[in-house]
Amino acid sequence: MLRLALPNKGRLADETRDLFEDAGLPVRVRSDRALTAQVGDAFEAIFVRTQDIPEFVSDGAADAGVTGWDVVLESGRTLETLLDLGFGRCRLVVAADEHSAVRTLGDVADGARVATSFPRLTGDYFRNAGRAIELVPVSGAAEIAPHLGIADIVVDLVSTGSTLRVNGLREIATVLDSSARLVTRPGHAGAGDGPLGELQDALASVLRARGQRYVMANVPRVSLDRIRAVLPGLEGPTVTDILNGGDHVAVHAVVRAECLTTTIRGLQSIGATGILVTRIERLVP
Ligand code: AMP
Repeated sequence: MLRLALPNKGRLADETRDLFEDAGLPVRVRSDRALTAQVGDAFEAIFVRTQDIPEFVSDGAADAGVTGWDVVLESGRTLETLLDLGFGRCRLVVAADEHSAVRTLGDVADGARVATSFPRLTGDYFRNAGRAIELVPVSGAAEIAPHLGIADIVVDLVSTGSTLRVNGLREIATVLDSSARLVTRPGHAGAGDGPLGELQDALASVLRARGQRYVMANVPRVSLDRIRAVLPGLEGPTVTDILNGGDHVAVHAVVRAECLTTTIRGLQSIGATGILVTRIERLVP
C-alpha cells in the first residue's frame, strides 16, 4: 500500500480532503486526532505539517504528498509535480513600507534588511537580481517586521493582498506564483501506469469537471445550423432524436460554468425549451 503525506490542518487540508472524496477516495479517519487514515483501497494517508511534506516524500517516508509549491521550493528538495491542484493559490512577493521611496526592486538599497519565513527563496531571488541584502529570518507574520524596526523590506505570501495593505506595505515584485500540488520523488515506480498515475488521473478528471456544466435542451430542428455558435462544447454538441419529438431534437453539450448565462440566452434565442443544466463529476477527455 502506498503512503500519501497530506496537510494536517487549515484550508489546504480541507480542500485536499474534498478533492479526494470527489474522486471516490474518501479519507477514512478513526478519530479527529488520528494521524493516519485509509484513502480508498490503495493508499494510506499520514497527516503532517505542510512544511514537513517535501522532506517525507523526498526521503521515502511517503510515496507522494500534497503541499504548496512555495513550500516545496523553499525546502530545496527535488520533487516531481504529478498535478497542479489549482487551490491554495498565492504569490510570494517583495513588499516595502508604502511611505518609503522603494517602488521597484532597483530601489532596494544594498544591505537592506529583508524579513521572511522563506529564507532560501528570498536569498536566491535577491542574489539572482544582483542585490546584496541582509536576511532577517522569521517564523511567521513577517508583515510586522518593518513596524518593529527589525527590517526594511518583507518577502511574504499574499492571496488577496489585504494583509499587506492593512499593514501599510506596498508590493514591489513577485518572487513566485504558487498553488497546491500533488508531488512525488522523481522516477517513482508508482507513477505512470502505477497507482500514483491512477491517482493523478482520477484527481485531474475531477478538477477538469469542476469548472464545467452539462447542458441539455430541446431545440427546433430548423435552428440546428445556428446551434454550433451557441454551444461550442468539447467536441459536440451531441444531437439526438426525441421519441414523438416532432420538430424538436435533443441537444447536449459541455459548457464552461462562467459561460452558462450567455449559453442559456443563446439557446432561448434560437427557440430552445426544456433547458437543463447539471454538474459533472468527472471529465476524461
Ligand atoms: P491575504 O491577506 O489574502 O493576502 O493573505 C495573506 C496572509 O495569508 C499571509 O499571512 C499569508 O501568509 C497567508 N496566505 C495566503 N495564501 C496562503 C497560502 N496559499 N498558503 C499559506 N498561507 C497563505
